[in-house]
Amino acid sequence: QAKHRGRNTHHYYSETLRTDVQPQLKIEAHLLGALERGEFQLYYQPLVDLQTGAVRSLEALLRWHSPALGPVSPADFIPLAEACGLIRELGSWVLRQAAVQVGVWRAAGYPNLSVAVNISPLQFEHPEFIAEVAALLDEEQLPGQALTLELTEGTLIQDLQATTAKLERLQALGLRVALDDFGTGYSSLSYLRRLRVDILKIDRSFVRSLDSEGPAFAEMILQLARHLGVQTVAEGIEQEDQRDLLARLGCDLGQGYLFARPLPVSALEDLLAASAQPR
Ligand code: C2E
Ligand code: MG
Ligand code: MG
Ligand code: MG
Repeated sequence: QAKHRGRNTHHYYSETLRTDVQPQLKIEAHLLGALERGEFQLYYQPLVDLQTGAVRSLEALLRWHSPALGPVSPADFIPLAEACGLIRELGSWVLRQAAVQVGVWRAAGYPNLSVAVNISPLQFEHPEFIAEVAALLDEEQLPGQALTLELTEGTLIQDLQATTAKLERLQALGLRVALDDFGTGYSSLSYLRRLRVDILKIDRSFVRSLDSEGPAFAEMILQLARHLGVQTVAEGIEQEDQRDLLARLGCDLGQGYLFARPLPVSALEDLLAASAQPR
């Protein structure tokens, strides 16, 4: 599992946590109360314009440093937080942190910057979700354009009719909706016709296999997105040749270690100053 994440992340996620040695129950025990104890932090990873290299947006990625367990990967604790009923509280905290931070950046000279927040299906399904987002924008005096919500296919196809209505309400507030990890779910093309998402994020498995399998899938997704008028992001770009090929194929934005890893706020200021440009 750790290997699957790419060699460089070994330094961050402790190896032992990715094995069965750490029982889930033990992680769960430490997860309870972790929010109150201030053990979470948001990191941000740039989404870069593949033509110009300018930073267009940042994805908020949750980090948990447990004093007892060390750093734990969100791939491990998000499912647990979902299972033990913590995800709504945690998700609300993430949304608020991200909103406050994007407000700070927008006021500091990047007025068009948007932050993308990952939303769990359990958050999205909650009847108060849209009201919560609207109240947050209001409190932080932010336009909807300051936030992008990243949802996965699994979240969206639960109840297509309800989802369509919710997306429309969010978009009416000005938010953009990104379909995350596109191509890995049950990817029925028919629901793409019904759901008006703004952004498709091509899963990094397609980027990783560009060399071995060729560009057929990336090309097809990009073409589809173009026809639908949807912006495209390629995830997990680690190599220059991947970036060059995706740029040639017309992918709009890229995200990956080649450009920057997820970073704490303090480390982002220089990077933003060097490359952020108005949209
Ligand atoms: P995701 O939303 O698809 O986020 C992208 C993941 O790819 C992040 O992993 C990021 O660190 C990683 N990544 C970015 N560039 C590269 C690259 O070049 N190579 C490789 N190998 N990986 C790259 P991370 O931060 O470990 O997050 C994993 C997943 O956990 C996220 O996948 C998302 O589904 C979930 N997650 C993270 N933060 C949150 C959150 O605040 N709320 C919810 N509900 N889920 C979250
Ligand atoms: Mg995401
Ligand atoms: Mg993703
Ligand atoms: Mg992904």
